[in-house]
Amino acid sequence: MLECVGYGATAASTPVAPFSFNRRDPGPDDVVIKIAYCGVCHSDLHQVRNEWRNTVYPCVPGHEIVGHIVAVGKNVTKFHEGEAAGVGCMVGSCRTCAACKEGLENYCEVGFNATYNGVDPIIGGPTFGGYSDSIVVDQHFVLKIPEGMDLAATAPLLCAGITTYSPLKHWGAGPGKKVGIVGLGGLGHMGLKIAHAMGAHTVLFTTSAGKTEDAKKLGADEVVISKDPAAMAAQGETFDFILDTVAADHPIDAYLGLLKRDGTLCQVGAPENPLSIAVFSVIWRRRSFAGSLIGGIPETQEMLDFCAKHGLVADIEMIAMDKIEDAYARMLKSDVKYRFVIDMATLPKAA
Ligand code: NAP
Ligand code: ZN
Ligand code: ZN
Repeated sequence: MLECVGYGATAASTPVAPFSFNRRDPGPDDVVIKIAYCGVCHSDLHQVRNEWRNTVYPCVPGHEIVGHIVAVGKNVTKFHEGEAAGVGCMVGSCRTCAACKEGLENYCEVGFNATYNGVDPIIGGPTFGGYSDSIVVDQHFVLKIPEGMDLAATAPLLCAGITTYSPLKHWGAGPGKKVGIVGLGGLGHMGLKIAHAMGAHTVLFTTSAGKTEDAKKLGADEVVISKDPAAMAAQGETFDFILDTVAADHPIDAYLGLLKRDGTLCQVGAPENPLSIAVFSVIWRRRSFAGSLIGGIPETQEMLDFCAKHGLVADIEMIAMDKIEDAYARMLKSDVKYRFVIDMATLPKAA
């Protein structure tokens, strides 16, 4: 077994704290990555606090992982020792269903194995995520980091990047399209950068007036303060596509009303409680309310290459591991600019 140290939660009500655990010994298809940085996704917070009612404890969060490969199994052809690599939200899937065969492991028909809160196929027990010193992952679920990318600022692309890239591409964001991004947090700021780079006219909806100037620098052509009814009304029925990244309860009908005929509102933010929708918001103008879940492995690599080509990385605030609960508290106040990334060099050596 590979002895690891990290930070994890043992119950929904206790803080994330130092935690020692074992990972499986690397098998022939596995790589071992020494983790350099791990992004802090709002999903980590939802899950350590059991807001989605499915958390298995102990829970070591973290699915925006970058580092360097320190060992490779005998069947590993894709990677070599010393190379930079990334791991996102998935570490396994059935690899045989129709979705997996299409490279849509995120929609695996038997369910993908999550980087944390999944099940280790060899030793059983929960999978443990990136708030730790190292990780053992099947090479199929490991991503190449393009040459020259800043490693720490690339970490958030492994979840926030792909979760926004995939629906933006699927619903055709590009020249001639008007695209809205709701919420300027980790996902939202990557959504803005990517939609802008794809060539769409991009509008940011925010509850935080203080983020207006940043949003423009990040790629917004327009910024709308969503609490201002007149500003919202002025955007009525003009959008082809809106991507909603909000992590808390909020009014959906206000955004559905901004879509043109046949427009789509895609929800990627995953609040704890159900959202309500007035059916006439979608009946009127034949609109769609949709969702999207991260992205498959081939598309994640495509997104990393797209970001490298367009010079896109996340805007990050680096934190020490022991500041994670402060980061969560700020996240709950929408005070993230625009992704916390943990420097794993600050992890205590023995937990
Ligand atoms: P985040 O950094 O905390 O950003 C969320 C943003 O939403 C905030 O910065 C804020 O932006 C806005 N917001 C927060 N509370 C709000 C409220 N009550 N009303 C309106 N707006 C509010 O979170 P994140 O890491 O980007 O994650 C966002 C959500 O996506 C989470 O629920 C996460 O679990 C989910 N997620 C889903 C997937 C997927 O595959 N579907 C993948 C990753 C994450 P403003 O200040 O600009 O209003
Ligand atoms: Zn995430
Ligand atoms: Zn499958």
